[in-house]
Amino acid sequence: MSIPSHTTPYFPIMLHIGKGAVLVVGGGEVAANKVHLLRGIDIQVHVVCPTLCSSLRSLARRGEITHIATPIHPQNFIPLLKTSPYRLVYLATNDHALNATLTALCEEHNLLACAVDNPAISHFITPAIIHRGIVQISISTGGVAPVLARHIRTLIERAIPHGIDSLARFMDTQKERLRKLFPDTKQRSRIWDQFLEGIGAYMARKQHYAQAEQELDKLLNTPHKPRGEVWLVGAGPGDPDLLTLSALRLMQQADVVLYDYLVTPDILNLVRRDAERIPVGKMCHQHTLSQEEINAELIRRAQNGQRVLRLKGGDPFIFGRGGEELKALTDYHIPVRIVPGISAANGCAAYAGIPLTHRDCAHSCLFITGHTKSDTPLTLEDRTISFRNQTIVIYMGLSSLSSICTQLIAHGLPSNWPAAIIEQGTTPDQRVITGTLTTLPDLVTHHHITPPALLIIGKVVQYRISSVLP
Ligand code: SAH
Repeated sequence: MSIPSHTTPYFPIMLHIGKGAVLVVGGGEVAANKVHLLRGIDIQVHVVCPTLCSSLRSLARRGEITHIATPIHPQNFIPLLKTSPYRLVYLATNDHALNATLTALCEEHNLLACAVDNPAISHFITPAIIHRGIVQISISTGGVAPVLARHIRTLIERAIPHGIDSLARFMDTQKERLRKLFPDTKQRSRIWDQFLEGIGAYMARKQHYAQAEQELDKLLNTPHKPRGEVWLVGAGPGDPDLLTLSALRLMQQADVVLYDYLVTPDILNLVRRDAERIPVGKMCHQHTLSQEEINAELIRRAQNGQRVLRLKGGDPFIFGRGGEELKALTDYHIPVRIVPGISAANGCAAYAGIPLTHRDCAHSCLFITGHTKSDTPLTLEDRTISFRNQTIVIYMGLSSLSSICTQLIAHGLPSNWPAAIIEQGTTPDQRVITGTLTTLPDLVTHHHITPPALLIIGKVVQYRISSVLP
């Protein structure tokens, strides 16, 4: 099959309708769809048709549109066009031939018309639109694949941070000041680029305008030296689809990424192509860099003006040493942002089909580490450990699994208490082994389970539905 390629006849512009109005010819659902698109914009909309569908009727009742209740004929159409300074006309009747005739009449009167059922004769088509206040994005496939345009819109929508309208309005308030300080357009653009990639833009999006202005001031005072920052970002348990939108955005902005062993290659692939990548290890007994060295590296790079992404498996504040890094960085007055991630407990439980709590048997859920700071196995002492109506999730518990199971039985849990281990949860290599406190250690040896692996202990394991899809 050969597919012809041709250039598009459409020129995208943003049209200022001003005092003119838009005329919609037709009163059914198709006309209503166009009217709803137009409602987000500060313009007058006139709808001509003897009768209106219910949604248009209620808009007319509320005075949001003007209803012209006359029949539509080519004979009365030209006089109608002269009643108001129309800028655009939508032909949306269910009569294909009538739409075409009226489009031709519009052309004779130099009016831009869109026959909604016939792009080929239309002077304009309506793109897929993203509308966030003052920020608008329109996507066109030249009318050949509108469903694809809508799909692209969804992709773009995901990439646009929340609060973009506030950011645009903030930039508008600062435009004049910058123009006076920096008459050179290129210099102003550079400053705005730096601003948009830094914490100031984030503040503006959150409507913390005073802080945003302070950040901009800092750039204006030292426009050539970008201010470094560190972003402590949770990458989730492994599946890239579990990244948050913030994580993805920062991954695409960072100058350098320091990542630990839990971050999967699929996730690393989403980091900005030209960003420097530094593995900092952290697998038990195999620290590539000590925590102090990691802290020092983060500080050094931020002080040099880099935007440093500290990418961690799961959530930075759950057994992720995020607290230690945060303290070290703020001691040096480095701006820090923290993006939570889906922790292994949430991700592995969900993908294994094991609920973490359940009204019938688990009213609380304990997250425990199987290792202490000095990398020695944990001694489970807390008496709450033996509560029956509870789920226990143990991170980093693989190497001390036998000892953990023995201790839990010694603390009063039955020897046949349900237990599961999830290896490489949420990844294509995920394996789930279920057993009891007595049988699990042997099962794990038998199946050669290797890190990362997560233990889930409690009655919820019996509620597992193994057929859940990721
Ligand atoms: N901050 C991380 C935990 C880091 S501790 C989080 O919130 O998830 C490292 C431990 O997390 C591993 O030893 C393992 O017990 C668990 N873990 C992390 N990712 C995992 C995965 N994909 N599958 C199973 N366990 C995982």
